[in-house]
Amino acid sequence: MEHGATIKHDQKKSPKTGDWRYMHPEVDKEKCIGCQTCVPFCPEASIEMKDGKADIDYDYCKGCGVCAEVCPVKAIVMKKK
Ligand code: SF4
Ligand code: SF4
Repeated sequence: MEHGATIKHDQKKSPKTGDWRYMHPEVDKEKCIGCQTCVPFCPEASIEMKDGKADIDYDYCKGCGVCAEVCPVKAIVMKKK
């Protein structure tokens, strides 16, 4: 049986997202309950918790919308840039 592996990467060494990004997520800090569900789902590792709320690093976010999909309280809304 083969075992899986987790590959860690240093996000800060990745190229920054260009202006091709069409949509961007916005966190409603009033709605965010700080559950951290969105953090591991972000394929770009662009979400960190700040003061107990989700905080998005727009330098690396690609606007895929996964975070908005998984948020249980719909605190993240995708908006056109
Ligand atoms: S839109 Fe995609 S890349 Fe951007 S923060 Fe959400 S999950 Fe991460
Ligand atoms: S999944 Fe939603 S409620 Fe949970 S930390 Fe992320 S934005 Fe906040």
